[in-house]
Amino acid sequence: MRWSLKKLIQVVALLAIVLTFLTSTTVGYRVHKQTLIDSTLETNKAYAEKLSATTDTYLREILQTLQVNAEEVIPLLNNSDSQVQLNKIAERIRTQTSTFNSVAIASPEGMVIGISPPSLDLIGERLTSLGAEQAMKERKPLISHPYMGITGEFLIFISVPLISEDGVYRGFLGGAIYLNQPNILEKILGDHFYENGSYVYVVDGKGTLIYHQLKDRLNDDVSENQVVQKVVAGGSGAQAIVNTKGIPMLAGYSYIPIADWGIISQRPISAAVAPAKSMVLEMVWKSLPLLLLAFFLVWFLSKKIALPLQKLAYYTETSTKTDHKEKMEAVSDWYYEAKQLKGAMLHSLDYFKTEMNYFIHQSTTDPLTKLMNRRSMDDYVKEWIENQTPFSMIILDIDKFKRVNDTYGHAVGDEVLIYLANLMQQAVRKDDICCRYGGEEFVILLPKADKVRAFLTAERLREKLESTVSPCGEVVTISSGVAAYPVHADHPARLIELADRCLYEAKRTGRNRTVVVSDEPQQK
Ligand code: GH3
Ligand code: MG
Ligand code: MG
Repeated sequence: MRWSLKKLIQVVALLAIVLTFLTSTTVGYRVHKQTLIDSTLETNKAYAEKLSATTDTYLREILQTLQVNAEEVIPLLNNSDSQVQLNKIAERIRTQTSTFNSVAIASPEGMVIGISPPSLDLIGERLTSLGAEQAMKERKPLISHPYMGITGEFLIFISVPLISEDGVYRGFLGGAIYLNQPNILEKILGDHFYENGSYVYVVDGKGTLIYHQLKDRLNDDVSENQVVQKVVAGGSGAQAIVNTKGIPMLAGYSYIPIADWGIISQRPISAAVAPAKSMVLEMVWKSLPLLLLAFFLVWFLSKKIALPLQKLAYYTETSTKTDHKEKMEAVSDWYYEAKQLKGAMLHSLDYFKTEMNYFIHQSTTDPLTKLMNRRSMDDYVKEWIENQTPFSMIILDIDKFKRVNDTYGHAVGDEVLIYLANLMQQAVRKDDICCRYGGEEFVILLPKADKVRAFLTAERLREKLESTVSPCGEVVTISSGVAAYPVHADHPARLIELADRCLYEAKRTGRNRTVVVSDEPQQK
């Protein structure tokens, strides 16, 4: 099956609409998504930078607080009975700053000489932890690497050296922050936690997690992470990465110089671009009425466009059977091609009709006399016999015509033939049909006429000729034979044969006369 023009227009237009819609939606989605990604990266970077600045400032303040307290501790170190006071200072630092889980004052060898909380009961013990070792070794304000303490806590140790006025190293004053317990980092970072899967984490200079919302991830080595590598190298910025759990993330990162830590704020891409998806849904939803309107317009217009062509095609196809000229003229031609096509079709229809009429005329008419020829005579006879329409037939022949030709020439003979044809047509009724049967023999068919009427017609014609001078300058006469259907015969050939016999009879009995088939039974 072939597609109709209407369907083609509909399919093409609908495709165009759907493709345009898909393109604009896709482009809209992509642009919006990229904007969201860019702005999330930007936000996370700014956020990481802000948090790192806050943390940096806070750590500096802590070191400063320790420093101030160290000034107070140094004079007390000379007194052997200052144990209580040292404990008090440690207690004050711990409670007032609310930064440390424990605070200790130690001798140059790491011997504990002041402690808070007292419950730790470490006075006189020697500190061998990583933090204490580092403090004793470096003898400067220090934020330690994270490590497992003797109490089994994961912690960092922040300390300042105790140096007397004469420059002698007298030990250190430091506090521990237990990373897996509520602590100050959580206060700074956890408070800023925002929703949609966003989170912040902190790594130390080696890429070990020292702050994470999930406590059991503390102390994990995440140095493989690209962003971690960048931040511990001192960088700050933003980039899209896949986290250790395989989730694509948008991360902002910033370095904390004082502690050699890195802070990373990140958000899953899926959460960041979610608004783009809802925007697409909204676009689809809001475009729906317009889309429906477009679909309706396509349907309506395709019908309007296809209808004239459809009608023209139909009328042309059936024009061999029925004349659809008027219907064709009525077809709406509201656009250029329809008008062109309609004009061309009407024109060719007219042309073919004229041509056809010409050929019909040519094939049914005798060119010399313009009477019907023998073929159309046969058609009439056949049709009337089929329909059982009664009719009579006159066969007539010019008497001694050879002599006319011989005397006046063939051309004059032709004129006589034309002259006879005209008289024949004048002598018959409107419905009677005059034919040239061949040479100078003619036939008149008289539908619904009996033999008497035919006889009278033949006689009228014969008398007219007899009393008129023909184009050759002489009177020409005719002889006729008359037969009637169905009275004399009911077969065309038989009827002609009977009429012809009568004509012969007329010739034989002296010419210039009319003979009718007798009503006696005819001999075959
Ligand atoms: P009859 O009375 O017995 O009919 O004698 P006739 O001379 O008419 O004899 P016949 O019917 O045999 O002759 C017919 C002649 O008609 C022969 C031919 O020369 C002439 N004829 C036939 N057709 C034409 C034609 O188209 N033009 C002319 N000019 N003559 C024709
Ligand atoms: Mg003849
Ligand atoms: Mg003759």
